[in-house]
Amino acid sequence: MHVLVTNDDGVFAPGILCLAQALHEAGYRVTVIAPDRERSSVGHAVTLSRPLRLWPTSNNPFPEEVRSYACDGTPSDCVVLGVEEMAPEVSFVLSGINCGPNLGDDLTYSGTVSAAMEGVILGKDAIAVSLDCRVLDAKIHYETAASITVSLLGWLEHHPLPKGVLLNVNVPNLPFSRLKGLQVTRKGVRVYEGKVTRFEDPHGRTYFWVAGRPEDELVEGTDVWAVAHGYVSLTPLHLDLTHYPTLEAFKKSDLEKTFLAELQFGEEG
Ligand code: MN
Repeated sequence: MHVLVTNDDGVFAPGILCLAQALHEAGYRVTVIAPDRERSSVGHAVTLSRPLRLWPTSNNPFPEEVRSYACDGTPSDCVVLGVEEMAPEVSFVLSGINCGPNLGDDLTYSGTVSAAMEGVILGKDAIAVSLDCRVLDAKIHYETAASITVSLLGWLEHHPLPKGVLLNVNVPNLPFSRLKGLQVTRKGVRVYEGKVTRFEDPHGRTYFWVAGRPEDELVEGTDVWAVAHGYVSLTPLHLDLTHYPTLEAFKKSDLEKTFLAELQFGEEG
């Protein structure tokens, strides 16, 4: 099986190297196309206003048999170029291993998750994989997330994903032997407190830094709860953001009729 691997931390990040190596060792054919620099939090951005370029990585850290390219676009650009041009035969798009979790409300900001979504839009199966670590953690267990991903791919060969569904996997930053297990979860709630910090530059001008502390609602059954309690979290996602209860309520209300009466749509037939 041929898989396309990308990320949003950049092609030389340790997480993507660990994932590509593990997949290669497990017998998958691997093509890596990833941004030439960190592109975390770019969401689903696709570059329409300028040309995109790809080039083979130099001083290649990947195994010899792994084709690897750096790209000057976003994670979603990498998936578009991979699936439409460089490796259309891939059956899976894998995005990660991200340094840092993608839980709750992180999903729409995440370049990691968006790259997997792009894979699904282009008709491929896709998995986003993130490790619940911080850049400055003394030990970062990418190998745990890599082996979870390889096992999950093996399971999915016998239990194919429905079309249009991607998996968002978050792994606690622990050695494999210390994981409590795996939980299938729903998206939880994670909001950021203190999103904007105001600073002053050496010239006395104000600047801002957007960051904030994540505040999780630790409700059992959610992705945030599972990872906080030492479980691998696996959330199936799809792209339909419609809120069906509100849709039904609006349909039952006189909203459509009111607007038709008041705004005189369709007067000219
Ligand atoms: Mn990232």
